[in-house]
Formats: sequence, structure tokens, C-alpha cells
Amino acid sequence: MPSYAYFHKQFVPLSQAKIGVMTQALHYGTAVFEGIRGNWNSQQKQIYLFRLREHYERMHDGCQVLNIDLPYTIDELCQITGELVERCRFQEDVYVRPLAYKSSESLGVRLHDLDCDFLAFVIPWGPYLDMDKAKCGISSWRRPDYNVIPPNAKVTGLYVNNAFAKSEAIGKGFDEAIMLTPDGHVSEGSGENIFLVLDGKLVTPASDNHILMGITRDTVIKLAQQELGVETTERKVDPSELFAASECFLTGTAAHITPIGEIDHRQIASGEIGQITKKLQQLYSEVIRGDNPKYLDWCTPVYKHPENSWIFQGA
Ligand code: PMP
Repeated sequence: MPSYAYFHKQFVPLSQAKIGVMTQALHYGTAVFEGIRGNWNSQQKQIYLFRLREHYERMHDGCQVLNIDLPYTIDELCQITGELVERCRFQEDVYVRPLAYKSSESLGVRLHDLDCDFLAFVIPWGPYLDMDKAKCGISSWRRPDYNVIPPNAKVTGLYVNNAFAKSEAIGKGFDEAIMLTPDGHVSEGSGENIFLVLDGKLVTPASDNHILMGITRDTVIKLAQQELGVETTERKVDPSELFAASECFLTGTAAHITPIGEIDHRQIASGEIGQITKKLQQLYSEVIRGDNPKYLDWCTPVYKHPENSWIFQGA
């Protein structure tokens, strides 16, 4: 099945979407990206894009930080994404990667006086952390401060920090890194937020702890409260609290909800998936696939005629 991209205001086969070697964003990391999941529901023969609008709202905020003036409204970006995924006709979980970038082919470090463009592409993509339980290591790489690169925007250049942490973790035999804030509190994984269960309640680093405000994080907070009656406290988390937690897990669009079995070779509680994590995983997996009617507002169906989902219905 061929993948498509939206590139230079057109839908083209992914293999034809190429940018010039002088593109400003390639040299200076001056782009904002998103990661959006399309979740395949095999019974309904439908792909549901999860919290599509919220992803583009976050991208819009990031564009403002990076002085990127996008020639599309959030509604238009949602529309383009739906059509792009429909064209690909995949019958499996997919991942959409939108990118808003400084597209001028001119050198010189700056944010001003540059053209901007938007592209997106779709690929089939299963679970990112493909394991029952992740082994994590506390990273020697700290999150950058707000006056270095704002860590709450998905700026491509910022992700050099995350890449350092991820490769260090893999090099040490872990699956994922846990990064700390500049002052040594728990921040997040290289592509996920982190939650702990302490005294039967959820705890997660607060918005000013150098995190990306994850959409999965928000989903988990809401599902825990509304479906399990479990409240979440957003606050500073000391690394030592990780070892006192009865459960620990990572959340992200790519990683879904991934339990953490051990941190720095120390087992978290029994090392097995905890009860709250298990319940949240079950809830989350039905919600993102459009199987829970209460949360259908979060799911955008892609195929107009799901019974013939392999036929592209667009013009
Ligand atoms: N933190 C970082 C650094 C990320 O890259 C991601 C993935 N977008 C997340 C957290 C989780 O965010 P979300 O749940 O919106 O995917």
C-alpha cells in the first residue's frame, strides 16, 4: 500500500515529497512537528484519528513560539489530515507526522524574514515501545530551561536533547530515558510523559517541570478521574519518589500507556504491571479505537464508507 504526503499544497506519493538541501529548517532545527495516531478498528473497518484538533492546537501554539505563520486554519489542517489518511487506505494503525517549517532556501540563523510551509505524511506504525514493561534509566541529559529552548513546544531542534537521552539509555541497556529538570526533578521520557502511583493516587510532573503537555497525559488524567475515580496531582516529583511508587508508567501518542518495570536496574514495586496501570491501558485502548461511545468526540473517523474502506472516496 503506498503512503502519501501532503507537500507543497498537494497530495503526492511519499517517495516524491523531497525538500531542497538549503532548506533553513534542515540546518537550524527551525520547525515544529506533531505526532498523531490513527487507530484501526477492525470490526468497524475504520481508522479513528485521536484528538486530532488538540494536536493541531498544540502545533499552532508552537508555531507562534517559532514565528511560523501557517497559511492554514486548524480546521483546514484537520481536513487535510483526514483526507491524507483516507487516501492511503491502510487497514492498520497509522501515525501521521505533520511538520510546520522554515522553508526558505537561504542560509543564516534567524527566525524572521523567512517563508514557512506545512507538510504531513502517514506511515503504518505499531507500538513505539514494543514491550510489556519498559526498563528505564535516569538520564545524565537534563531538559533545557525555558530560556534555552522552550521544552513545552515540539520544536525539532529541541529534540537533539531527547535524542542524546534516548541513545544514552539504549547504550546502557535500557529501553527509555527519564530526564530530569535543570534543578533535578523528574521531567519526562524522551518521547513520553511519566506517571507514578503513590498511596493509590496518580502523581505526574506539573506543567512547569520542563515537560511537553502531552495529549495522552491529559487523556489519562481525565479517564482516571471520570472512569476510575482516581485523582491526579500535578506537582514537582523528586527522583527518589520513583522508587517508592507502587506503579509507574509512560504515556505518549506513539508509546500509548507503557508500564515501567524497573528504573536504573531497580524494580518498581513487584516489577509487574500494577492494577491502576492495567485498568487505564484497557480503557485507553477502547477509547482510542472508537469503542467507547462516551469518548467518541475524541475520535475522527477517516473512511466515509467504512465497509469499503479500501476505496478512496475523495475527489
Ligand atoms: N514528551 C515528549 C518529549 C514527547 O515528544 C511526547 C510525544 N509527543 C510526549 C511527551 C507525549 O505527548 P503526547 O501524549 O501528546 O504524544
